[in-house]
Amino acid sequence: MSTAAAYALSASDGSFEKVTIQRRELGPRDVLIDIKFAGICHSDIHTARNEWGRTSYPCVPGHEIAGVVAAVGPAVSRFRAGDQVGVGCMVGSCGVCAPCLADEEQYCTAGATMTYNTVVDPAVQPGGHTLGGYSTQIVVTENFVVAIPEGIGLDVAAPLLCAGVTLYSPLRHWDAGPGKKVAIIGMGGLGHVGVKLAAAMGAEVTVLSHSLSKQEDGRLFGAIGYYATSDKQTFRELRGRFDLILNTVSADLPMDDYLRLLNLDGTLVILGLPENPVSVKPLNLAGYRRSLAGSMIGGIAQTQEMLNFCAEHGIGAEIELIAADEIDGAYDRVVASDVRYRFVIDVSTM
Ligand code: NAP
Ligand code: ZN
Repeated sequence: MSTAAAYALSASDGSFEKVTIQRRELGPRDVLIDIKFAGICHSDIHTARNEWGRTSYPCVPGHEIAGVVAAVGPAVSRFRAGDQVGVGCMVGSCGVCAPCLADEEQYCTAGATMTYNTVVDPAVQPGGHTLGGYSTQIVVTENFVVAIPEGIGLDVAAPLLCAGVTLYSPLRHWDAGPGKKVAIIGMGGLGHVGVKLAAAMGAEVTVLSHSLSKQEDGRLFGAIGYYATSDKQTFRELRGRFDLILNTVSADLPMDDYLRLLNLDGTLVILGLPENPVSVKPLNLAGYRRSLAGSMIGGIAQTQEMLNFCAEHGIGAEIELIAADEIDGAYDRVVASDVRYRFVIDVSTM
């Protein structure tokens, strides 16, 4: 067993405190990673504050991990000490169910082991639940480690491990590309990467944001349209416009208003995960043979594909680097949509 520094919450209404945690002994297929940067995803906040109701404490969030391999177990073949690597939302899955065999480990029928807050055998993570990337080191089985290509800085790569793949996967699944009109609702951590990815894939991208305050940035990221959803005229003007809408908003939205913006056979994909149920009028689906769908991160192979795509197209996240003792304030700013566009913890400050 080895020890690592980490930032943990001991209760849903607490503040982050520096703690010492244990990581398991390196197994034959394990990779020990020195974490350099950890992104702050809104899911970290939902979990840390127990908004999804299943949080084990102490909670060490963090599933946008970028670092350098410190050591590998004897059976590891794909990585060696010194490699730049990333870890996203998952650190394990059954490996034998149909989704796992199809490289969709996020839909593992036994339930994937998430990077933090999954109950596991203490042999996997001392303490009995996984502890994430707000930490100086992590031990992960090599199948759940991806290579960060040369040419993407580790700091701007970190958010790609969750935000990047969460947008890349549905954009690929629903064939975003030339001739497709794609709208992204919410230009936060997920949304801004989605704009860059969809534009790089050749789609015509529009941002639906609650105000026009980030319009200039949206255009720089590749959007050709940018509309305020606080303006009722937006919903009249864009009616029936889009083939694909990706909803990245962390709060409840009037889904019917957005469904009506879809063209014939268009799909609205739910990515944002607020706690309340969604309600829709059946006629808004039936009327134009529209679909309402959801999507969860992406598999490990697709995460690697996404990182390679980002390296090829010069895509990284727009980040605000913070010290480890600034996490509480950063959380409040994310909830207030006051972030351009992802907070990333500089783990050297731990
Ligand atoms: P974020 O950085 O906070 O971005 C969310 C954006 O939603 C904000 O920037 C804002 O964009 C918009 N928004 C926030 N509150 C709003 C409100 N009350 N009304 C309208 N718009 C609002 O969060 P994130 O890290 O991108 O995560 C977004 C959501 O995705 C979270 O619920 C998270 O848990 C979820 N998530 C899901 C997956 C998945 O696999 N499906 C993966 C990661 C995260 P504008 O200012 O542009 O309006
Ligand atoms: Zn995330």
